[in-house]
Amino acid sequence: MQKRALILVAAALVTSSMPGAQTMDRAAVLREVGIAHGMLRGLQYTDAVTTSQFQATGMQYIVGQSFKPGGPWPAAKLTKYNVWINYAVPGMRIDLERTNPERSNPGSPVQGGGGLPFAAPQRQILVVGGTRAWNETMLPGGPATPAIGQEKDRAAQIWMLPQGVVKAARMAGEKLVVGMEGNKLTLTFPLPEPASSYTEKVRLDERKLVEHVEVMVDNPVLGPALLEADYDNYKDPDLSDIPFPFHIVQKFRGSPILDITLTGARMYNPYVVVPTPDNVEQAYAANAADPQSKVEMQKAGPGVWFITGASHNSLAVEFKDYVALIESPVGENRAAPLFDAVKKQFPNKKIRYVINTHHHFDHAGGLRHVVAEGTTILTYRDNQPYYEKVLASKGARPSVEAVGEQRVLTDGTQRLELYKIRGSNHADTMLIAYLPREKLLVEADLWNPPAQPNAPPPGGVALAEPLNLWANIQRLKLDVAQIAPIHGRIVPFSDFRRAVGQNSTN
Ligand SMILES: [Zn+2]
Ligand SMILES: [Zn+2]
Repeated sequence: MQKRALILVAAALVTSSMPGAQTMDRAAVLREVGIAHGMLRGLQYTDAVTTSQFQATGMQYIVGQSFKPGGPWPAAKLTKYNVWINYAVPGMRIDLERTNPERSNPGSPVQGGGGLPFAAPQRQILVVGGTRAWNETMLPGGPATPAIGQEKDRAAQIWMLPQGVVKAARMAGEKLVVGMEGNKLTLTFPLPEPASSYTEKVRLDERKLVEHVEVMVDNPVLGPALLEADYDNYKDPDLSDIPFPFHIVQKFRGSPILDITLTGARMYNPYVVVPTPDNVEQAYAANAADPQSKVEMQKAGPGVWFITGASHNSLAVEFKDYVALIESPVGENRAAPLFDAVKKQFPNKKIRYVINTHHHFDHAGGLRHVVAEGTTILTYRDNQPYYEKVLASKGARPSVEAVGEQRVLTDGTQRLELYKIRGSNHADTMLIAYLPREKLLVEADLWNPPAQPNAPPPGGVALAEPLNLWANIQRLKLDVAQIAPIHGRIVPFSDFRRAVGQNSTN
């Protein structure tokens, strides 16, 4: 009975053009969907759900860290995925632990980036509270690191969960659009702050439970990209008549990023609070400059500048007629100040090339800016079709030149050599750069010099990529005196030799 009535209401709504009828039907639909999700109680149909909590295990797939461009996101196994939600704050805390994935052939390597393969189980605590985001390392209220810029995507996660959908749809007021897809009801609405630039589209199943959610989110490399969630196996976990899905799958740009099975859930937990740590509040309140905007130039040779200041370094190389820049990483927030600084350093020369070490999103995140500047991207050949597709936009057609096994830029004095790395399990598109005059090697992610000079060398799985880099340097017969890494400080080559256990001179 109820179901048929709802479909009639929705059908009337779709065909109705009367604003008054729209408002009434919107309210009726929201009430039915709220009842279906066990939220509306008492004579006044008050929303009784203020918190949720669930525990799960499953798989996580790391966005932007595929082994090959356009390939599936690499897998990590979630041994713990505990989530607390407080819809009133609104806030969410995810406490996860992940390990390397199990493989059918244990001898086969784990391929891709994002810290894979893990040397040890890795714990992450990701929090959003109101318009603030931060990471924790221990218990709630413990030391916190501000995660400025993450608040939008983390808040969206709250409103993608079933009860969150109902609340956000109600908050949208007259901006909620009710529709039909086949015989299924759909809800489309903008999300609350700080995710208000996102629009969510939801499909309900025949019981009026949320079964599919879509949000177009922003991505530094892909531009707008589709984030989807699918819910099934609804249960009543604590006999409160509040149904919650025990199987959750999320996809990003069509490829899975999360696939979890719940082991338990509670729809009411008075202890779910998300206080914003003082240092996080201060960091936001200070309206401090984005740490990615800090650019420092360090001379590394005639016309050669090592550019640091944030998480990813770059290297500018001056030629007679132009400047080549190695790496435009992270996103627009890094690329814009980086380009400004390089232009200031070389006011009379054009940045003709940006060399991209590999396709991982943290290293390719500034390439949309490169395209907007009209600068040509030099990258390994397998990235060319991928970048031409994903970096294209209405305003700009990317100029991408493919590099094969090697490429040399020279004006007779300055010389920059690019080589394809063989045998890496981190990325299948990896280029290194070599400046013969300075005997300087530039590499990304293959070996990160330790922050402390006397730190013990890497062992186990962490040694595989450094050893492979060593083998490539031998194969290419490069005479290296120092390494300028994309992560970390310039170090003498002897530091690397020690790390890979090659103390004798080659
Ligand atoms: Zn990488
Ligand atoms: Zn990296």
